[in-house]
Amino acid sequence: MEGRANTTLPVIHTLENVVRYLDLTPSEYKEILDVSRYYPFAITRHYLSLIEKDNPLCPIRRQAIPSKEELRDGGMPDPLNELHDSPTPAFIKKYPGRGVFLASSTCAVYCRFCNRKRFVGKKGDPRIYWEETFSYIKGNREVQEVIISGGDPLMLLPEELEYLLSRLRDIRHVRILRLSTRVPVVYPEGMQRGHLKAIKRYGPLWIIIHINHPREITNECIAAIQKMRKAETMLVSQTVLLRQVNDCPHIMFRLYESLIAQGVKPYYLFQLDEVKGAMHFKVRLERGMEIMRFLRKRASGLAIPQYVMDVTGGCGKVPVESITIQGKQKKIYVQGITGKTGIYHNDGKKSQCIHCGICSEEQ
Ligand code: SF4
Repeated sequence: MEGRANTTLPVIHTLENVVRYLDLTPSEYKEILDVSRYYPFAITRHYLSLIEKDNPLCPIRRQAIPSKEELRDGGMPDPLNELHDSPTPAFIKKYPGRGVFLASSTCAVYCRFCNRKRFVGKKGDPRIYWEETFSYIKGNREVQEVIISGGDPLMLLPEELEYLLSRLRDIRHVRILRLSTRVPVVYPEGMQRGHLKAIKRYGPLWIIIHINHPREITNECIAAIQKMRKAETMLVSQTVLLRQVNDCPHIMFRLYESLIAQGVKPYYLFQLDEVKGAMHFKVRLERGMEIMRFLRKRASGLAIPQYVMDVTGGCGKVPVESITIQGKQKKIYVQGITGKTGIYHNDGKKSQCIHCGICSEEQ
């Protein structure tokens, strides 16, 4: 199938609207311009409208608006060694039995903390490797589960998504399909009837919604979730623990309790990968564990995710709560599920209250 760009999407690529909406100073404008030379910038009208204009620590702003902190040293372009574990340019296979299909390199919003900053929004369209990837999966019977990711697979045209799902369903040994997306959160109107039809037709599909903050659960997002439920999907969430966005027990409690109320089971809470350009979002492991303790005490059992880290170097995932941290030790040696041991630098800055007011609303 020919790859085609979706040119009808109302994604704001130019800075003019952002500058006008956020009333940015010339130096803030230049900062965004400088950073977006290295890491692409895009934001939707919906997500832009969620930013509190006068709050420099607005959690939505921090996730979407480029900052010069992205140009600081540290981290790696490919911390999980995905390029090494790629039998085709559009498939990552780290574990036996399953692999990640890179369906698209486009996202509606380029998250500033993305662990595929090396790839998203840049040159190189994975759609040209789809056929090679279908052949690879077909020839490897141990691949029973495919995680469709990117970029964002819901940024494909509906007919492209339909084609992708139909080809994967044609491979008899592929029994489980997952699809990871941030579209229902950052671009809910981008989920078209055709996407939902394809999702329903080739189900059952597990959909993983990437969501990081309770303020992202808007009426529009809830409507998108309901449409996906009507399309007979199973819905789970994944969240990245991000400094000065959601590194607070009360914020996480609100997020997870709101998700289960909408029929979405919190699945993964990810420790930030050591990715170049995103290290300023790193949260100390002790803080993540404190958040989990708070959730276990206060939240419904359904609202508790697995708190995991992907060990730097491509060693696989581990539950963070199984790690022992001694004193102020910064280098943590961790054995991933692949059996390899890697080092995680537990050197995030201390978490601080940003006075968002969510905790006082709970009393
Ligand atoms: S939507 Fe996902 S892949 Fe795209 S920029 Fe955000 S985190 Fe990265």
